[in-house]
Amino acid sequence: MEIVAKCPTCDAGLPVHGADAPAAIKCGRCGREIPLTTSEAVRQDVAVDHCPVCGGADFYIRKDFDPRIGLTVVIIGALVSAGFYWFGRDLIAYSILGSAALIDLVVYGRLKDLTVCYRCHTEFRGAYERRAPAFDLHTADVLELEYESRIGRR
Ligand SMILES: [Zn+2]
Ligand SMILES: [Zn+2]
Repeated sequence: MEIVAKCPTCDAGLPVHGADAPAAIKCGRCGREIPLTTSEAVRQDVAVDHCPVCGGADFYIRKDFDPRIGLTVVIIGALVSAGFYWFGRDLIAYSILGSAALIDLVVYGRLKDLTVCYRCHTEFRGAYERRAPAFDLHTADVLELEYESRIGRR
């Protein structure tokens, strides 16, 4: 399992191999020591049960995808088709817009899920079975607040 541990101080993403995760890592940006408590399930890529960074057991699943990329494809498609539309080539305009949306859909569908820790936003990628639910804003609000007051950020 690949883990991207999020530094509690500066939010830098620190890549860690689940199988040989050390007892502590040092943040490359701010120098903070971050102790890792890696569970057996995480080490063996079986499941994400406990977050190595904050110890939390609440996770959500999201597509491993940067929404900005998809948006760019659609915007470029829209601009190009607007150009054709302007010159009276409606059919070409619509088909370009359609294929941009289609490309987006195909890319999105092929993406794998990644697991994210509600509290510290540490990310997990691996062959394990995804069991966490989809993102819930209310849960995120409650758990982030709890975590941030615990580490003294608020
Ligand atoms: Zn840091
Ligand atoms: Zn966490």
